[in-house]
Amino acid sequence: MNRTVIPPSANGPPAHVLLVDDEPVVARELRDLVQSYGHRVTACNSWTEALRAFGKGDVDLILMDAVMPTVDGFKLTRIIRSRAKTYVPIVFLTGLADDNARANGIEAGGDDFLTKPIDPLELQVRIKAMLRIRSLTKALEEKSRTLSRLVAMDALTGIGNRRSFDERMQTELGETTRTHESVSVLLLDLDHFKSVNDSFGHTVGDDLLRVFGRLLADNTRACDLPYRYGGEEFAVVCPSSTTDDACTLAERIRAAFMRVSPSATAAGARTCSIGVAGTDILPGASKEVLLQAADAALYRAKDSGRNCVCKFDPLFDQKVA
Ligand SMILES: [Mg+2]
Repeated sequence: MNRTVIPPSANGPPAHVLLVDDEPVVARELRDLVQSYGHRVTACNSWTEALRAFGKGDVDLILMDAVMPTVDGFKLTRIIRSRAKTYVPIVFLTGLADDNARANGIEAGGDDFLTKPIDPLELQVRIKAMLRIRSLTKALEEKSRTLSRLVAMDALTGIGNRRSFDERMQTELGETTRTHESVSVLLLDLDHFKSVNDSFGHTVGDDLLRVFGRLLADNTRACDLPYRYGGEEFAVVCPSSTTDDACTLAERIRAAFMRVSPSATAAGARTCSIGVAGTDILPGASKEVLLQAADAALYRAKDSGRNCVCKFDPLFDQKVA
């Protein structure tokens, strides 16, 4: 093979190239070539090796031999495309120069084609072009992840918003039909919040909501994600928890909020009321029913003088049961 005359600096930043070829001699030769462009290369001689290497998640480009025993390059490409969460360009390498192989390669999810024997200059420019696509795709994927995070987040408090709460409830209730474990929900409301906004203004009210959001995040298990339900109302979903378990958590949160320094915000010392309901008390309850139950319990907590936790009780909260 003729070595390229393009200097390594023209190849762009170093990338991780996965090379799949069942012929060890060809694989070694190609590996040396791609390494000479400044890239890191993992060379694999079988599809199982290739899947293992790809599974590590840091591959930027795949150079794929089309003709291999058992699982050929086309099949392997389909497998990779169906499993990968990220888009990694795939360039087919093959001695088959006919149009059918090209069509099959693109159809299977390949992005480009190089015919053996590989021309080093051709390989170098294709790799450069494919890595440019990879870096653009990576940037887009990152942006899309950021957007998904933002869509699920309450902008003021940084915890989950109503939309992600609804999704989470639906998921957890679906899970309980499989696991038969109880899922519980806490509805939390800041006491006399309206007076904070009225007396101190919305900036202070917002500060208080932020403090409360942080307190929820700090006082819940990793699996009990807190959400801002709306206004001064918050919610916590507790998977694999009975109503009593959730009441223990609620009491811990209530007490922790009382310990927050009165100087934390200009609103001074504040309290919260919490209503709790779980599917151990309301078997098979829908999201709406469970929320109504927690809301009825919260209403009773408010009615009982605030700054307390009430557990849903079918006797008192009849309208739900
Ligand atoms: Mg082969």
